[in-house]
Amino acid sequence: MTITVRVDDVLGFGRPGVDPTERFMDIHAAIQSANGLLWHEPTILVQDIQAFPAAVEFIRLESRLGRMSPQVHGWTHAPYHSLPPERLAEDLRWCLDWFDRELNWLPTKFYSPWGGDTPIMREVAAANGLGLVGACRNETLDRLLLRLRKGEPPRLLEGTWLWHWWSGSGPISEIADMLTKRS
Ligand SMILES: [Zn+2]
Repeated sequence: MTITVRVDDVLGFGRPGVDPTERFMDIHAAIQSANGLLWHEPTILVQDIQAFPAAVEFIRLESRLGRMSPQVHGWTHAPYHSLPPERLAEDLRWCLDWFDRELNWLPTKFYSPWGGDTPIMREVAAANGLGLVGACRNETLDRLLLRLRKGEPPRLLEGTWLWHWWSGSGPISEIADMLTKRS
């Protein structure tokens, strides 16, 4: 059984008073504390994350150790659905170059910003070896927490749940705790 936590917008949209790298590492630690019952899938904003070399190094290491699978969110948080497909194609190529060079990792999914999802976007993503996932397909992690609190069996909660890196690790720790106690 695996419940995937899609940690979104890594590491864009910083909040005042928060060290983004530290917060991201906290989230990863909370996911790891579920002893494999939670899986970490961070979605990377490639331009934004370049301001945080320690986070890049951390993601490279944790990916190599098989503890997370980073995926493409975009070069920036652009509304690709309303931009020319050539722009998306160029940005995805830059993203894939960066993933290869900096993370030594081949992503398989394009979690499009703002949930953008059109046939041409899917085509461009597929031409770059990426499956497009629109944001609307994911329920947010607080729903998962509520359902676990109500006593729903974890096997019914398999799938991908959305969380934003800036929201911190609190609910993830609580989920990890409940999952490890019930398994
Ligand atoms: Zn996003």
